[in-house]
Amino acid sequence: MEWLYCDFHIHTTWSDGNCELKDVVEMYGETGFDVIAITDHVLDSASLARTKTECGMNCSIEKDQFARYQRELWSATRYAWETYRMLLIPGIELTNDTSKYHILALDSKEFISPDLDVEDILTEINAQGGLSVACHPYIRNHSGETPSEYLWNNQDRFASMFDAWEVANRDDLFNVVGLKKFNYIANSDFHEEKHLRSWKTLLRCSRNVEAVKQAIRTNEAVALFLYRGGKLK
Ligand code: ZN
Ligand code: ZN
Repeated sequence: MEWLYCDFHIHTTWSDGNCELKDVVEMYGETGFDVIAITDHVLDSASLARTKTECGMNCSIEKDQFARYQRELWSATRYAWETYRMLLIPGIELTNDTSKYHILALDSKEFISPDLDVEDILTEINAQGGLSVACHPYIRNHSGETPSEYLWNNQDRFASMFDAWEVANRDDLFNVVGLKKFNYIANSDFHEEKHLRSWKTLLRCSRNVEAVKQAIRTNEAVALFLYRGGKLK
């Protein structure tokens, strides 16, 4: 079975990314990626109220926009498959900057509020057949911040409740996460073109969404990969 080049954490102009969805698909498809997930931010209500004046409409997908976001992702999924044989998994990044946790929900089907507590979010993701990932759980070098500090501070409780943790995010390699008890993946947290050069995941599994989710959950045939430019194939 072949190894698949994957990136499960990508933002577009649906939230605070610089690139439109269609340009992101072309960029990853042309480069030769096999699996990507689009994960625009859904912000908690307190943070949304606080930051809306600064970032205008584009800091968060709001509940009433979610159906349109999903529809656009589904059509991008079809295009990515037909054009590049690339899997595109719809997702969101549940972004709670008040209580300090960022959680990826991959292949979730309905809106989930980041105002919920972590256990309820994970229950909801599971109920929708989705996959949960604890994002950048340690200090990020470019900002000096730990946006998921709550997850890290409660790691014993949460370690096995997530399907995976980001052991690497963009330029950061969180070796502290690489402990036996954590399932791991690595993602770019893409917001602009230069973020393509960053840590990524290699997975050995069949090229379909259920197989990809299963490979992350079992976490056996998984490897880290630092992409530095050029075509992958
Ligand atoms: Zn984040
Ligand atoms: Zn992100």
